[in-house]
Amino acid sequence: EEVVSRNFIEVEIDKDLEKGVYKEVCTRFPPEPNGYLHIGHAKSALLNFGLSKQYEGTFHLRFDDTNPIKEDVEYVDSIKEDITWLGIDFKDHLHFASDYFDKMYECALLLIDKGLAYVDELSAAEIREYRGTLTTPGKDSPFRNRSIEENKKLFEEMKAGKYKDGERVLRAKIDMASPNMNMRDPVIYRVAHISHHNTGDAWCIYPMYDFAHPLEDAIEGITHSICTLEFEDHRPLYDWFVRECEFNPAPRQIEFAKLNLTNTIMGKRFIKRLVDEKIVDGWDDPRLVTISALRRRGYTPEAIGEFVKMVGVAKANSVVDSAMLEYCIREDLKTKRARMMAILDPVKVIIDNYPAGQEELLSIPNNLENPELGEREVAFGRELYIEREDFMIEPPKKYFRLFPGNEVRLMGAYFVTCVDYTCDETGKVTEIHCTYDPETKSGSGFTGRKVKGTIHWVSAAHAKQVEVRLYENLIDDEVGATNEDGSLNINPDSLQVLENALVEPALMEVSPLDSFQFVRNGFFCVDSKDSKPGQPVFNRIVSLKSSFRL
Ligand code: ATP
Ligand code: MG
Ligand code: MG
Repeated sequence: EEVVSRNFIEVEIDKDLEKGVYKEVCTRFPPEPNGYLHIGHAKSALLNFGLSKQYEGTFHLRFDDTNPIKEDVEYVDSIKEDITWLGIDFKDHLHFASDYFDKMYECALLLIDKGLAYVDELSAAEIREYRGTLTTPGKDSPFRNRSIEENKKLFEEMKAGKYKDGERVLRAKIDMASPNMNMRDPVIYRVAHISHHNTGDAWCIYPMYDFAHPLEDAIEGITHSICTLEFEDHRPLYDWFVRECEFNPAPRQIEFAKLNLTNTIMGKRFIKRLVDEKIVDGWDDPRLVTISALRRRGYTPEAIGEFVKMVGVAKANSVVDSAMLEYCIREDLKTKRARMMAILDPVKVIIDNYPAGQEELLSIPNNLENPELGEREVAFGRELYIEREDFMIEPPKKYFRLFPGNEVRLMGAYFVTCVDYTCDETGKVTEIHCTYDPETKSGSGFTGRKVKGTIHWVSAAHAKQVEVRLYENLIDDEVGATNEDGSLNINPDSLQVLENALVEPALMEVSPLDSFQFVRNGFFCVDSKDSKPGQPVFNRIVSLKSSFRL
């Protein structure tokens, strides 16, 4: 019998439903539109969406757009595209926090009315200083005890545009001696004379995150507000705002550990820096782990979904091996994609006993593990290209590929034996001469003798030249992402462009984002940005070998 183990979030939700705290589950994913989504966001979005399905509840996509200084519609659009691509359905529940600005303002007025908020004139630096430290209590602002009427008048003046940025703030009146720094009269509204992508110039005061977020959840009837661990000590404040603004039932915040990946740059701020400093080719550079980059690299939503499931949810921070993400895409594509022949670093082979001018079409299965993918015809002739590394003049022990006197199988074709080779003046091999045995044709049932090596090839007369891009990590955790002077420590070999790769002609009839296995070389995807009709660019998604084992 299957043992169904519940993660700690499910356990809490079960309890809440049992106790009748909520009738139905409602979750949300609340991105701030200040950058593109990354794999960490995918984890959070898929987790919340998954819970809503599992409990037959509702899921909201909500743009947490309360800080116009960093936000932009470009990001709103990209987030919608990415969330849709991940397979998350939000069409009946697309929300913008900025649509609640009126309601939030009313909540602030309610707090003022209850004597729980005041307008402060201290500067940001003074507020920080008065707040005290973890070991010393804070000090009351001289403006803390204004009358309700005065606070109301000043707050209305803030809204009306009477004050410049930073001249006045509205603060919650909680406890300047609280051991939890978040409770020491947090700022809840500030003045910012800046246009908002949604509300234009309607507002010149904007709510702070810690005030806005619980209200957004409460307004939407969210039951379980799942966020990352760094908000754990904001929870008392979250609960305070929901309670004092008199929402019932109150949403419940539950924290889980952020996803971290080895040798990977996560965090919108960091990624934005790489984009702004033009170290990468935009937010969708295939070396990044933004959703748009993973898509462009050739990742599938299925592989990302599987990865997120495999990682699971935890209450303690940890770092996941990037090899696990690679494992997931490899597993996903293994039987789904055709296995084609592409030569990344070509060297010419001439089959001396194959008649010049003759050619034949060989039928090759597209994927031996998946007969449903059928077969294709591949042209074979006297002149071929193979990988340079598949030939050695003086091979080491256990090298089973081509070398003088050795016989190998050409994949899907014939056995060939190397009889000679030529080199240029630097010693670089220029041509390899072979003879073939017509008896050994693949599929002919030949059993006369066996060879130890099988190598892939393309026909010189038919092959097409394409650009191939190979990727490595941008950073190395062991070296560190930044240097002592704050500059970035970027792997200089993170992108390798191969301009002489040769592929089967079938690979010219491809569309952006199509993906294939290139036998022995890995999985590759047609770049959606730089490919042109008849001139595809192939990104390596992942190599075939894995350091990761389940
Ligand atoms: P970043 O730290 O990368 O800038 P963020 O947390 O500022 O991201 P938001 O748009 O505010 O980005 O986050 C939307 C949601 O995604 C939040 O609920 C946040 O907790 C979650 N989230 C962000 N990063 C991760 C991560 N690495 N793992 C899991 N969830 C994450
Ligand atoms: Mg944020
Ligand atoms: Mg952040």
